[in-house]
Order: sequence, then structure tokens, then C-alpha cells
Amino acid sequence: MSVSIRRLTTSDPEFQAKLDRLLVFDDSTDESVERAVAEIIADVRQRGDDAVLDCTRRFDQLAAASMPALELPKAELAQAFAALDAERRQALEIAAARIRSYHEHQKADSWEYQDAEGMRLGQKVTPLDRVGLYVPGGKASYPSSVLMNAIPAKVAGVGELIMVVPTPRGEKNQLVLAAAHLAGVDRVFTIGGAQAVAALAYGTETIPQVDKIVGPGNAYVACAKRRVFGVVGIDMVAGPSEVLVIADGTTNPDWVAMDLFAQAEHDEMAQSILLCPDADFIDRVVQSINRLLPAMSRRETIAVSLSSRGALIQVADLDEACAVANRIAPEHLELSVQEARQLVEKIRHAGAIFIGPHTSESIGDYCAGPDHVLPTSRSARFSSPLGVYDFQKRSSLIEVPAAAAAKLGPVASVLARGEGLTAHARAAELRYED
Ligand code: NAD
Repeated sequence: MSVSIRRLTTSDPEFQAKLDRLLVFDDSTDESVERAVAEIIADVRQRGDDAVLDCTRRFDQLAAASMPALELPKAELAQAFAALDAERRQALEIAAARIRSYHEHQKADSWEYQDAEGMRLGQKVTPLDRVGLYVPGGKASYPSSVLMNAIPAKVAGVGELIMVVPTPRGEKNQLVLAAAHLAGVDRVFTIGGAQAVAALAYGTETIPQVDKIVGPGNAYVACAKRRVFGVVGIDMVAGPSEVLVIADGTTNPDWVAMDLFAQAEHDEMAQSILLCPDADFIDRVVQSINRLLPAMSRRETIAVSLSSRGALIQVADLDEACAVANRIAPEHLELSVQEARQLVEKIRHAGAIFIGPHTSESIGDYCAGPDHVLPTSRSARFSSPLGVYDFQKRSSLIEVPAAAAAKLGPVASVLARGEGLTAHARAAELRYED
């Protein structure tokens, strides 16, 4: 089994145009998905629990007499955790502890100061009251996503965490339940898709309305999240996953090939790109790809992803590699080079930066500590990984003593009159006239 993966070089006058074409993916929203999701949301708003039950029967082949029957008792989550074999239990515990400890560093505190006019100004930080966590479960199960979404919320101090996870034919994934127990999720419903998103956004007789919905999902879930944004907050609408590897030619080419595979196995639209100044090394990576691919359980998906969206790009030097990386703004960036720390300085846009040849993205995906929910599709230019800050909000604090009201009131008055807002002006003036 061999895979044809495109090779580009930055010395090609057409390179920029070719790179632009490579980065585009078909994100045109499928009309039929839009229609189906709009109908499901409207139905859930109108019929509540009954609509969710109908959709769950239809899309997940799971029939229940009532919505409460689709809630898992907390004892069942604890049982799933208690029943884990020692190896899995330890892996989950180590990952959870590391994710928690990393996110503790992100916690923001309230602050205040007094200025020269005697005003007290500041910012009060509060956690969200209630958050909905979508854990995908249609085709595969993702216990790591439970930890990566729930733990930052718990660290932020979110009051209540409601998890939804589709459970086709009622087949529960015990590791997902165990992870929910470990992360401290409050309630779990075995529902999914647009109906679960709508239920969390608007509330039903059984499912409480939340303030924000986080977590990845398929096209139906992404479309539903986009549609309920505004009624509730959402974390992001993620596109296909991406990795960009910068190699200086000193790493084992098998490591690089496997890192490209690790991204490509997610799905056919995932994108894996290598930047390297050494053409011989790129040849060796191609040999590794062809030798290692047949043993991969998801070789078909990897082959489609690499041949349709992958690329091996020869650059002039590592400086140019960094410039191209900044343009791509990848979700994951691996610096598989000897002097990796020097390159970090030159990187401005990337969701997560994996520094040095021993830092595989997989370690970051599961257990290094930082979140694996990252900005995709070049959005690392303006957004950040999921973090504690996504579960905290800020209120401004303004306290004006009489002397400051007299001093700054006239400023407000002038500006208010300039906008034609007399009541605004008078409200400020009364404070120093009376
Ligand atoms: P899912 O939970 O996202 O979707 C399953 C639900 O889709 C079903 O419950 C059903 O309600 C709905 N659905 C399916 N077909 C439908 C139809 N014809 N009409 C209406 N609704 C329908 O699970 P999935 O399908 O396995 O997808 C999971 C996705 O999440 C994948 O794309 C995966 O790559 C992604 N993912 C991303 C990350 C990340 O961190 N970025 C992590 C894990 C998974």
C-alpha cells in the first residue's frame, strides 16, 4: 500500500497560490444538514422532552419511556470508575491530575485599583453558573474529550456541569462514564446531536437550560451550536484537525511519518503538512510513510487524508519554515528540530506548539496538561485553546466618590450633549450641582 502525497517547494513561483488552495476546505454548510437541524431545534423548543425522546429513538436507535430514564445515576458513573482495571484507572487519573494542575495556572482573579481622582475601578471575575458539555458518541467514544472540556470548567468554579453523550442502541462507553466521574460532572444524559444541543440551549422539562455549550461533534452538532449561539455561549465551531511539522532533518523520519498519520487518522478531511529544508529527509519520510502505513488500523482514512489534503513542503531554511507556519496558523505545530527553543520565538500563530523532537502531539492530546481543544482552520490568528477563561466572565467595577463625580461629571456632560443625550448629561450634572 503506498500513498501519493503532494510535494511542494517554496522556490516555486506558484507556491503561494498552491498553499492557499491547499488550506481551503469545503466548509459550505450542507443545506440538508441546515434544514434538518432547524427542524430539530424548533421541535425541541415546542415539544421539549418528547421531541428529544423521538429524535433519540430515530437517530440513536435508543427508546426510552421518559426523559429521566435517559439520565445516568451518579452511582453508575462511580461504578464505571471503580470497575476500571488498574492500568486504565491510573492513566485516567494521571491525565486528569496533569490537566487540572495546568489549568490552575490559568485561573484569573478579580482586581481593583484606586486612581488619582479617588475612583475605585476594577474587574470582578465570576464563573458561569451552568455549562453543557457535548461529548461525541455517534461513531466513536472520546474519554479524553470529557477530561479536556470538564476539568477547566471545574477549575473555573462552574456551578453545575451537565454532560450529554449520544449512546447509540444504549451501548454505554464505560471509560467515558468513568472520566465523567473523575472530572466531577454533575449530571449525564445519554442524548446527542442537534436535539441535545437544543435541549441544553433552551431547557426542557427534564434538562436544565445552560449558559454555555462546549465540546466537539459532527456536522449536526456544529450546525446546532452555531444556531443557538446568542441564546447561550459556545466555545467554537471546529473544522477538521490539523498538524504542521517543522523538521530540520535530524529527527528519525519514522517519528515524523507517525505524527503525520496521527492527525490523518482522525478523518479524511484532517490535514498533515511537513516543512523541511532537506529534500533527502523528505524522501526518507516518504519511505517511512509507505513502509509504516499498512500496519495502521485506520490506513484507508490516513491514505485519503494524506493524498487529498497533506503536503511535504521543501523550504529554504528554518526561518522560512516559521514564516510559512505563521501564515498557516495551524492547530498543532510540532518543532522537530535541534534548536527548537529558538524557533518558538519566531512563531506567532499556532493553537499549540510542541517543542523538540521528543514532544509528540499525542502526549499533548492526552496527558501533558494543556487543553486539546484548539483553534482550527487558521483561527489561531485570533483565538486560543479552550481554557479556564472560557468558563469565567468579567464584570467591570466602578465606584465614584463625590469629589470625583464633580471632577469627571463635566466631561461626561460635554460628551453626552455632543451625542444629543440630555438625560445622560443631566444625570452626571445633578451629581455635582446638587
Ligand atoms: P456525534 O456525537 O457528534 O454525533 C452523533 C449524533 O449525530 C447522533 O446522536 C444524531 O443525533 C446526530 N445525527 C446523525 N445522523 C443524523 C441525521 N441524519 N439527522 C439528524 N441527526 C443526525 O458523533 P460522531 O458522528 O461520531 O462525530 C464526532 C465528531 O467529533 C467527529 O467529526 C470527530 O472528528 C469530532 N471530534 C473532535 C474532537 C476535537 O477535539 N476537535 C474530539 C473528538 C471528536
